Amino acid sequence: MRIQFLGAAEHVTGSMYHVESNSKRFLVDCGQFQGNIEETALNAFYKELDPSAIDFVILTHAHIDHSGRLPLLVKQGFKGKIYCTYPTMQLAEILLRDSGKIHEVENEWENKKRKRAGLEPIDPLYTEEDAIETIQYLYPLEYGKLMDLGKDLSFEYKNAGHLLGSSIAVIHFSEAGADKTIVFSGDLGNGTSFLEEQPEFIEKSDYLVVESTYGNRSHLGISERGEKLVAIILKAYEENGTVLIPSFAVGRTQEILFEINHYIRTHDNEESKLLSQVPIYLDSPLALDATDIYSKHSAYMSELIKTFGESPFKLKNLHIINHVEDSIALNFNTSSKVIISASGMCEAGRIKHHLKHNLWKPNTHVIFVGYQGEETLGRAILTGVKTVRIMDQEIAVKAKIHEVTGFSGHADETQLTNWVTGIKGLEKVFVTHGEVESSHYFADKLKTEYGLDTYVPKLYEWVEI
Ligand SMILES: [Zn+2]
Repeated sequence: MRIQFLGAAEHVTGSMYHVESNSKRFLVDCGQFQGNIEETALNAFYKELDPSAIDFVILTHAHIDHSGRLPLLVKQGFKGKIYCTYPTMQLAEILLRDSGKIHEVENEWENKKRKRAGLEPIDPLYTEEDAIETIQYLYPLEYGKLMDLGKDLSFEYKNAGHLLGSSIAVIHFSEAGADKTIVFSGDLGNGTSFLEEQPEFIEKSDYLVVESTYGNRSHLGISERGEKLVAIILKAYEENGTVLIPSFAVGRTQEILFEINHYIRTHDNEESKLLSQVPIYLDSPLALDATDIYSKHSAYMSELIKTFGESPFKLKNLHIINHVEDSIALNFNTSSKVIISASGMCEAGRIKHHLKHNLWKPNTHVIFVGYQGEETLGRAILTGVKTVRIMDQEIAVKAKIHEVTGFSGHADETQLTNWVTGIKGLEKVFVTHGEVESSHYFADKLKTEYGLDTYVPKLYEWVEI
């Protein structure tokens, strides 16, 4: 078997592995590079990849950095099945359509600039139409059901506990008379999410491709994150300020809503009474759609969620913002409030408007509840810059900036280590899906402390196993 690393190699985004077995050629994930211009420039397919020659795709979860180039694959001739879990199919549908729209809008802007510079217009990476076309190829499977892919190849999904429907792909193959297994971790959850179960442990595998987003970091404990979040919201309420929570529309937003709901329902004190009075605005149509999908799939979620009945994300003080006019009106609303809006790294979406209107106010509190990629607006604000540029305007950062890391959808260093070292029989471990420092730190740790044969592959590198 040969594997080529077409993304997430010394990068966090762009997850895509091209696998050639004796009889099949397939991809594990087909994600988009996100971040700065050098990263997004990598989104054109590797020149030697022929989408029409790919037999199928094994999709681990719906996040765009794992699914976002599927429409490009279909546009360029792919006609096979895209395996995924049932919730992943539903989430991928809304995320891919949204991604198609974003590409169209960004392309329009780009072409206006090109026109002024006397350059020919270019096509978007793909459109919403391409995304809709892609949805028909999604093929849902249950966790734990072995899918036969031919005489020498089969695979099954295990719950990765990272996002609704997220999975670990366990692929069995036979070569030269020997039965082997390779596991692709996908993104692994941190085991302390209120929504997700623990990532399933894998008993035995010969090879492993593992993520390392937080390969060199530890998260806050579960109780601290709720207390910290509530304390910041109540502090802002006291100061008559606005709390901005840039949040990924799918997954993190539902976690935040549930965390607040959970706090109100499980605490009988002054704080919980106050918290239930703070107006909370959910200002993201995508987050709203995702919350509906989450509400329908409690069977795939934690035991705790099931005890909250039909609508674990419904709060009395929650206001849903659908229309742009209502989102703009929030800028003129001077009372204390919480605004949860996408995108999570502040690179796009309505959060940029809210930041523009509130970052310069000392009684604004910005709470980062997720990973901030290198060179994103979110990372800049988080690292304490004094001013930022938002929509061609210089904005002073006078707001109080907070980071609550316990919400991360990713396992931290200890959790990753426990998960990897629980797998018996590993001959080789490929460490991917992390920034350079994190991937190499984690690979070295597994090698020196646990004697594992680890390797951090380079982008476009082929390895033979
Ligand atoms: Zn993910």
